[in-house]
Amino acid sequence: MINVGVFGASGRVGKLLLDDLKQTERMSVSTVFVRNELDFSIDPSILITSCMESFLKACDIVIDFSLPEACEILLEQAIKTPKPLVIGTTGLNTHQLNLVKQASQVMPVLYATNMSLGVALLNKLVYQASAVLEGFDIEIVEMHHRHKKDAPSGTALTLSESAAKGRNLDIENVRISGRDGNIGERTKDEISVMALRGGDIVGRHTVGFYNDGEFIELNHTATSRNTFSKGAIRAGRWLKNQEAGLYSISDCLEL
Ligand code: NAD
Repeated sequence: MINVGVFGASGRVGKLLLDDLKQTERMSVSTVFVRNELDFSIDPSILITSCMESFLKACDIVIDFSLPEACEILLEQAIKTPKPLVIGTTGLNTHQLNLVKQASQVMPVLYATNMSLGVALLNKLVYQASAVLEGFDIEIVEMHHRHKKDAPSGTALTLSESAAKGRNLDIENVRISGRDGNIGERTKDEISVMALRGGDIVGRHTVGFYNDGEFIELNHTATSRNTFSKGAIRAGRWLKNQEAGLYSISDCLEL
């Protein structure tokens, strides 16, 4: 049995994670971390705690879908109390990403801005298309629900990195995330990543390759958040048996 610690349990994805783990063989929730109190009831055998050290000690692996500032606190404590970590939180800043790398020196860490199989494959396809479709303009559009806090989405940023890698470009030098006013013509290498927000859209990403006379659009649409919670559970089961190191969802899926 793998005992899972859920970090961000009261969130949109965290609640699904609790439900999905109930249906999962040989894995169960042993503890959840809370800042205050849980506003819903869970199995009384599960440790509900606001003490990070007790939380980490009470589980074999941690699955995190929280917010960047919360994930930072988790990483700082995990460096002192190592546990395999599946990190799904997006919008991490440079310091927080460095903490992810630091943590991965002492424990296995799988960091994925999108836990779905479809997006893992999309990243591969985008890399290939970007390399083959030389000279095509690359434009990425993502759409999410009105409550999403970070923009552009972590998934869109990862897709833009895959596109840039396909052309041996540094994404930091070519990414733009807004156009407004008399900005002039599009430059050859730029990769734009645009964010739309509204309603209850779970997540939609389109990577377009546009040329004179033709274009290709690769699209992925998540229709349920369970795709993320189930992907994270699969990742956790796999990560439990890995050495310390930083892993991606593609490593887990052997893509
Ligand atoms: P949410 O706002 O519904 O939930 C956030 C959770 O974090 C809540 O449980 C909240 O209590 C907890 N939290 C916030 N601050 C905290 C703190 N200081 N200490 C402890 N806990 C704290 O968000 P959500 O829609 O469930 O998404 C959570 C994260 O996962 C976001 O970063 C989102 O972008 C990301 N996400 C990732 C994937 C993926 O596949 N990697 C998919 C969907 C969402």
